[in-house]
Amino acid sequence: MAKGMITRQPTKSGRHEGAKKPASAIPKVTVKAAKAALPGAKLAAARKAAKPAKGYNPTSPERVREILKRLDERYAGATCALTHSSAWELLVATILSAQCTDARVNMVTPVIFKKYPTVQDFARLQPEELEPDIKSTGFFRNKSKSIVGAARKIIADFRGEVPSTMEELLTIPGVARKTANVTLGTWFKKNDGVVVDTHVHRISRRLELTKNDDPVRIEQDLMQVIPRERWTLFSHQVIHHGRALCVARGPKCAECPLENICHAEDKTWSTVEQHRGAK
Ligand code: SF4
Repeated sequence: MAKGMITRQPTKSGRHEGAKKPASAIPKVTVKAAKAALPGAKLAAARKAAKPAKGYNPTSPERVREILKRLDERYAGATCALTHSSAWELLVATILSAQCTDARVNMVTPVIFKKYPTVQDFARLQPEELEPDIKSTGFFRNKSKSIVGAARKIIADFRGEVPSTMEELLTIPGVARKTANVTLGTWFKKNDGVVVDTHVHRISRRLELTKNDDPVRIEQDLMQVIPRERWTLFSHQVIHHGRALCVARGPKCAECPLENICHAEDKTWSTVEQHRGAK
């Protein structure tokens, strides 16, 4: 049994028994199984959070491997949900996605790329001219300035092509590490970092892969524990998980494939100890 994977099975009473099982024997917990194990009990049976057991290591390679395996099983082929057909379109869509849903961005981008098909078209605009078209994505004044500024910079310094290195991308207006990581990982297929959006932020803390609260530090922590070849896929899978099950309020723990290796303090149902501060 690997360190960091403390498994307990639900009993009829809903209380823990001390049995530990190897990773291969960890059962999948489904709503049906959960209800069968807890006849008559309410599923909202989250336990009082306590300190982790001595020796528990949430970032042990074995536990991380198990998390990745289960994410693979549930979110095979997860990728960026922003519609795009070039690095430039992806860059613009990612800038627009700040504080906005991908679905909303995907409604706006076909309209603006039809109106302004090239980077040069955007560079010729005044930011105010773009504002009405992107207003529904929120923060439209700043986003307009960023997009027009990015187009001008790409023409002036990168011959009209979106650059493919982190260093160069970070010189573009409106592009910070999150946008750069999306562009590098999704379009250029380079694992230069981990995308830390609101979902990755929340779930990495719930899974105790980081104790930090600052996205830059969270990214550094994740880069230490997630194998490099998995950085982009991990980000996409966790973002999907955050939308489907591990939502901000009232996560659907009884349906979650990670349930019995997750010790989050704010779980809504749990077969394992919950850890104070794991949220
Ligand atoms: S068990 Fe609950 S809190 Fe933990 S990852 Fe799954 S949905 Fe999120």
